Amino acid sequence: IMYKIAVAGTGYVGLVAGVCFAEMGHQVTCVDIDEEKVNIMKKGISPIYEDGLEELMQKNYSAGRIDYTTDYKSAYKDADAIFLGVGTPEQPDGSADLSHIATVARQIAENIEKDCLVVVKSTVPVGTNDKVEQFIKDFLINDVKVEVASNPEFLAQGSAVHDTLHAARIIIGTDSKWAEELLRKIYEPFKLPIVSVSRRSAEMIKYASNDFLALKISYMNDIANLCELVGADIQDVALGMSFDERIGSKFLNAGIGFGGSCFPKDTKALEYLARQNGYELRTVKAAIDVNNDQKTMLYKKACRRLITFCGLKVAVLGLTFKPGTDDLREAPSLDNISLLLEQGAEIFAYDPVGIDNFKKKYPEGIIGKGCIRYVENIEKSLDGANVCFIFTEWDEIKAVRPTDYKKLMRTPLVYDGRNIYRVDDMKNAGVEYYSIGRPYVKVNVKSLRDAATTADWC
Ligand code: NAD
Repeated sequence: IMYKIAVAGTGYVGLVAGVCFAEMGHQVTCVDIDEEKVNIMKKGISPIYEDGLEELMQKNYSAGRIDYTTDYKSAYKDADAIFLGVGTPEQPDGSADLSHIATVARQIAENIEKDCLVVVKSTVPVGTNDKVEQFIKDFLINDVKVEVASNPEFLAQGSAVHDTLHAARIIIGTDSKWAEELLRKIYEPFKLPIVSVSRRSAEMIKYASNDFLALKISYMNDIANLCELVGADIQDVALGMSFDERIGSKFLNAGIGFGGSCFPKDTKALEYLARQNGYELRTVKAAIDVNNDQKTMLYKKACRRLITFCGLKVAVLGLTFKPGTDDLREAPSLDNISLLLEQGAEIFAYDPVGIDNFKKKYPEGIIGKGCIRYVENIEKSLDGANVCFIFTEWDEIKAVRPTDYKKLMRTPLVYDGRNIYRVDDMKNAGVEYYSIGRPYVKVNVKSLRDAATTADWC
């Protein structure tokens, strides 16, 4: 059966969900308040970078199964189901901002003209679905049946389309048979395992899953830092751990800490929810603390090695919080670049897709004591550099050979936040190499004093 579906919000979650519902044969209208976004989507252009998204947008738009609009009234009035994929960003106290959810809830209440299931895909604190349902009923204008269901999203940015079409599970949280059956039918064509639970449990599954992954990352980073102190190698340790099925082989990579639009805010929001309920969620708190320190670990290492960044040419490889996305929210590169600029570095930054977004935060040119320039390839970033920082493990960055650093950089001093290289390979290439949780390699690089130039921004 085909349903008429409206999706509120065309970000990573809403747009991908809408496109995948259309691909499964439903009739979809995607709603956003951002007119510019809607206009470019109508032209078949994706406002976000996700593998395979644009192709599916174009295919389903030509087939007449998907449309984009800012006109929420006509999109909501006769929809069988309305999915909410609007943002729930972090507020200064760590709690989730539910204002976008409330706006859409009110728009729905005032415009629906037939029975409708409202489905919250956004990540929201436990109990929010109850409130959304009450809120809609309070503001409802027409005499129609409306219920709210929770359907949290688990896609990972960088593989959003694949993750949606091949999700490990669909979580549906409902408090009525009618809502459960309708959601089951909407998801039937995906042929994926469905776990049906109460609304509150569904809301909790999302936070519990994300925070568990965040904990796993912080745990490995914590162990990595200890490895450095006691002479063990975190990659060997992770390899040994990965054979244990109870531990699993994923998310064992130590690095520069987690970023992105989800883990940082979802750890804080759950910790806040616990506090609000008189409970201290100590494990999640620890994950947050470890991550805060981890993000600038490499910078601190570099500060122990160098007197100053003033007058040094610093190559930065990778800006996005992970490969496969143009998203910079909470990316470790932001914390590090801000510190490097404060210390007077002359940065030459490269990222395959993140530069345009990064420029909005750090426009090209002199910033404070430092200076940032954006270059169109890795060679231009490394050329003549004194120090290189690797923040994102894009494939093309992983493809840089150890000998290239030696060849292109003025002083081959590399700080790798993603443990891309084997320590021995860097050593053999004559590169002084610092990474996370592994022995560092000190080789005699050409004196940095020769390399430092007096620059006018210094
Ligand atoms: P986003 O910021 O990329 O997109 C949100 C969109 O909603 C924007 O385009 C914005 O213009 C639009 N919007 C705001 N108010 C609106 C309104 N009243 N009507 C219609 N559109 C409106 O957000 P996102 O990253 O897709 O995340 C959305 C939610 O999904 C969040 O709760 C997030 O925690 C959750 N989530 C995100 C991911 C992810 O990887 N990004 C994964 C799982 C869950």
